[in-house]
Amino acid sequence: MSSSGQHNQYDIVIAGGGMIGTSLALALAPLGLRVAVVEAVARRAPGQPSFDDRSTALSRSTQRMFEAMGLWPEIVAAATRISSIHVSDQGRFGFSHIEAEEQGVEALGYVVINRVLGGVLQNALERQAGVDILCPARIMAIELGPERATATVDTGTDEHRNITCSLLVAADGANSSVREMMGITARQQSYGQRAVIGNLQPEKAIDHRAFERFTEQGPLALLPVADDRAGFVWTVSESDAERVMALDDDAFITELQREFGYRLGSFSRVGKRASYPLTLSKALRLTATRSVLVGNAAHGLHPVSAQGFNLGMRDVAALCDCIADARADADTFDPGAPRLLRSYADWRRGDQKKLVRFTDGLVHLFGSERRPLRAARGIGMLAFDLVPGIRSVFAKHTMGLAGRLPRLSRGVPLK
Ligand SMILES: Cc1cc2nc3c(=O)[nH]c(=O)nc-3n(C[C@H](O)[C@H](O)[C@H](O)COP(=O)(O)OP(=O)(O)OC[C@H]3O[C@@H](n4cnc5c(N)ncnc54)[C@H](O)[C@@H]3O)c2cc1C
Repeated sequence: MSSSGQHNQYDIVIAGGGMIGTSLALALAPLGLRVAVVEAVARRAPGQPSFDDRSTALSRSTQRMFEAMGLWPEIVAAATRISSIHVSDQGRFGFSHIEAEEQGVEALGYVVINRVLGGVLQNALERQAGVDILCPARIMAIELGPERATATVDTGTDEHRNITCSLLVAADGANSSVREMMGITARQQSYGQRAVIGNLQPEKAIDHRAFERFTEQGPLALLPVADDRAGFVWTVSESDAERVMALDDDAFITELQREFGYRLGSFSRVGKRASYPLTLSKALRLTATRSVLVGNAAHGLHPVSAQGFNLGMRDVAALCDCIADARADADTFDPGAPRLLRSYADWRRGDQKKLVRFTDGLVHLFGSERRPLRAARGIGMLAFDLVPGIRSVFAKHTMGLAGRLPRLSRGVPLK
């Protein structure tokens, strides 16, 4: 990404051009608004925090959004289909699984490397008329007035630049400084864990299967990625993370194999590893005067349910729906009007609350050695296989198809 555009007035300014901010700018494109994306870290910089080596499981509703935005053919060409999810609990016999076929869909989701997804999204954004990309540039201060919002942007030159807009969207991640400038508090709680990520070669073909294994340390997920490799997300305790990251490849594989078992045969050829601190964060409000929160700026989840990005994409879809509805009346159109912001917040509150509770509940239920909770999770796993319909309800939530769906989540273009 390079700096572009010298305008100082926009309909919408998006703070943060990561996975969610970039997707939002692309989703808004058909509405013909003047949009600026302000992103702090240059496109190919090694420290780009959003488009890195993690793999992300895209839900069905996210797939539909990218279809409606015309980006899916390029994304799916670089993604790997998930045809079943296999859930097991270390130290217990048996497992549960969900099949795409049983749900009447061709895939439960698709896995894509963030860096690859980033390439597709950023290329598309650079081609997009009506969008200015300010990068590297950081929002340093904001002023929220009844008529407009103003952001002070540091573009690395001596002088800071002021840009004004009708609506300021904070998409600057879990530690959002723009959220703080908006005067919104977020409740943040560390899980005392880190996610160690990377990929490896399993001996037996992973064959489009995703695995979630609950171990004593925390959940361990294996996802099918390109070239028959498996991407792993291994949760380890904060106190053990440094030791695990420092292990040589052979010792690392031995430990990972001990946690996962031999369902996929022996592991080999582990790639570069990285680790992420895990924190639950939840903003106490979603809007302030002429400003809203989307994505991780609104909610940061444990990756156990692979839902953070997908939930953020549903924020994007709902916000776009509210803006598209208001846009229909050109005379009164104001993307930062209090009524529009209220409808967005009312719409999103329920889904966000449910996902936060669900994800946090999973971490505590499966992370606990307390007897009643161990018993409950045994029953939970059993119910999962025995109670008719429960798998379908779970799968619907995982695919992002529960509740009232905005246009884009149904695959319907905004215009
Ligand atoms: C190990 C791991 C695995 C995961 N797996 C999945 C998965 O399988 N499925 C899923 O749905 N989710 C997954 N997630 C969650 C997902 O990665 C996040 O929800 C998603 O990246 C959030 O995107 P975002 O754009 O909101 O925030 P971020 O990715 O944090 O991006 C924020 C952007 O804002 C920029 N920025 C920050 N401050 C400023 C400023 N002041 N001015 C300008 N720019 C600024 C940053 O440089 C960055 O580019 C996973 C998370 C982890 C940690």
